Amino acid sequence: MNNHHSKHTRDCAHCGAPFAINPRVGRRHRYCGRPECVRISQAVSRRKWLTQNGGKTYYLNANAKDRVRTWRQDNPQYWKKKTGGKRAQETEFVVTKKLRSILRDVALQDSIDTNLALKIGIISHLTGTALQDVIAKEIRRLMLRGHAILQGKIPKL
Ligand SMILES: [Zn+2]
Repeated sequence: MNNHHSKHTRDCAHCGAPFAINPRVGRRHRYCGRPECVRISQAVSRRKWLTQNGGKTYYLNANAKDRVRTWRQDNPQYWKKKTGGKRAQETEFVVTKKLRSILRDVALQDSIDTNLALKIGIISHLTGTALQDVIAKEIRRLMLRGHAILQGKIPKL
């Protein structure tokens, strides 16, 4: 069946494409150089190595993981539902339609300008000033306050 090959080529054990045998690997060279085939070749030799070196437990665990992965692939709805439910539990925010749409706009415009404008606007509103120098002082004070809180200290300013 391989009569169209010289002794220097062989059909890849995975994709069947003929490839040039590396003389240093010789008989053990069974896969071609395509990424997919290289991956399979590595997996096969790893498995072989593990069975030869008493890696049976690991091999069984890997099989179990594969089974779970396959099951997830076969049941995408269940998996999606479960993840969504968990995520909803973790972040239980009640957001109105209007706020959600504005937050989405802010996220879409994810730029320094938007964030900066929002911060300046908040501070201007809180302090009742539109003067940049006053706002700058306030930003510094609020940052120090925030750092202190995050470090578990009582803010001095
Ligand atoms: Zn191949």
